[in-house]
Amino acid sequence: MCGIFGIDGKGDAANFTYLGLYALQHRGQESAGIVSWDGERLHVERGMGQVADLFSAKVLRRLPGARALGHTRYSTSGTSVIANAQPIVVKTCLGPLGLVHNGNLTNGVELRNTLESTGAIFQTTSDTEVILHLMARMPRPTVVESLMEALQEVRGAYSLLLISDDCLIAARDPYGIRPLLLGDLDGSPCFASESCAFDLLGATLVRELEPGEVVVASGGKTTEVQVFHLDQRPHPTRCAFEQVYFARPDSRVFGDAVSQARLAMGRQLARESAVPADMVVPVPDSGLFAALGYSRESGLPFELGLIRNHYVGRTFIEPKQSIRHFGVRIKLNPVRELIAGQRVVLVDDSIVRGTTAPKIVKMVRDAGAAEVHMRISCPPTAWPCHYGIDMPTREELVAATHSLDEIRDFLDADSLAYLSLDGMLGCLSDPAETYCTACWTGDYRIPISAEDKRQAELFPIRADDGEE
Ligand code: SF4
Repeated sequence: MCGIFGIDGKGDAANFTYLGLYALQHRGQESAGIVSWDGERLHVERGMGQVADLFSAKVLRRLPGARALGHTRYSTSGTSVIANAQPIVVKTCLGPLGLVHNGNLTNGVELRNTLESTGAIFQTTSDTEVILHLMARMPRPTVVESLMEALQEVRGAYSLLLISDDCLIAARDPYGIRPLLLGDLDGSPCFASESCAFDLLGATLVRELEPGEVVVASGGKTTEVQVFHLDQRPHPTRCAFEQVYFARPDSRVFGDAVSQARLAMGRQLARESAVPADMVVPVPDSGLFAALGYSRESGLPFELGLIRNHYVGRTFIEPKQSIRHFGVRIKLNPVRELIAGQRVVLVDDSIVRGTTAPKIVKMVRDAGAAEVHMRISCPPTAWPCHYGIDMPTREELVAATHSLDEIRDFLDADSLAYLSLDGMLGCLSDPAETYCTACWTGDYRIPISAEDKRQAELFPIRADDGEE
């Protein structure tokens, strides 16, 4: 999960990119970077940490020019170190290039092994660099043509932005797995992972890039190119988890308003698994909209029975060994006056490892709840994602190794229900078969090379997924 933003033809482009990344911070808090073109050379600033901490006014002054792009990172391939922070900037026979990538290639390891065996030297362990190597190895007359040639070789999930001395290029994989949107800021084209970035800037959402589409921005104008002929294009396979959890609820992705999709999922959850209760309480922030939908459908009052501390960053360091294990209390605290003596329907978006949910149930019980009924606004997550979302191995996913009753007992909930797959997909406006559902069904429709699969199993990403 990463956030990308780029803009062309606008003075102080890095400042707009900074704001765009700020709006996309929820998509990755591990590292961030911006590269700009000032008409003579690329300038780049990258670092570990969050956007607001890394980009002071002084740092932004070191990024002049009217073309820029940036990235917020959450590891899905490669380790969490500064060398893997993006943008990746290189000098090639095509001129200077800077690249950012949201997604995960499913033949990145295979391609990398092949490139290394023929002498390529990589600066990073991230799969993104493979694309730059491919471009440099088979240069075509223009950067756009070279990128399109490279994209014929790679497979998997990519929403990309590439900056050169000539243009800013946006590209989306032919499955359309990750979102990528085109916007307009006072006549200057801009691109973002989600529309909330445009809202912050006052830019207009023009449209989502088509799967397999490349849009070239230069001199404030855009040109569209198709990488794949229509008859070569695979069936769209957009990540349904974007709608369930990853995208911000005030964004539009894949043509749907995320807030409305989540409200509908909550309503459907209430229809599928109603239970006698006194109130609906969301696990903030992820369960907010689904809980609201559940409340509206069931007629039960919606109560903010859990309060989240918004100032806990991913880099929170517990002060002393002797007072460790604050656990979930660092992030959440119950409102006893609301919960005590009540039968609570607790709504969250998903259960991954199952390490946090029992603590939240216990917290609600300790606050005096008479009953706790857990409701989850998507099906059981039982398979890892190979398309750009940080998830543990299958063995670590609680739904892969436990039955529904076992998970309920493990949570110590009075009842547990997940939204059905059909119920979830029915809340999205496009046909069910245009969405990826692999983490719920194991149906990996986009092939994964044997080498990439082996690498993912041997070295699963260990970034904090919000669960202790
Ligand atoms: S496996 Fe799940 S998280 Fe990954 S792309 Fe598919 S739907 Fe999204």
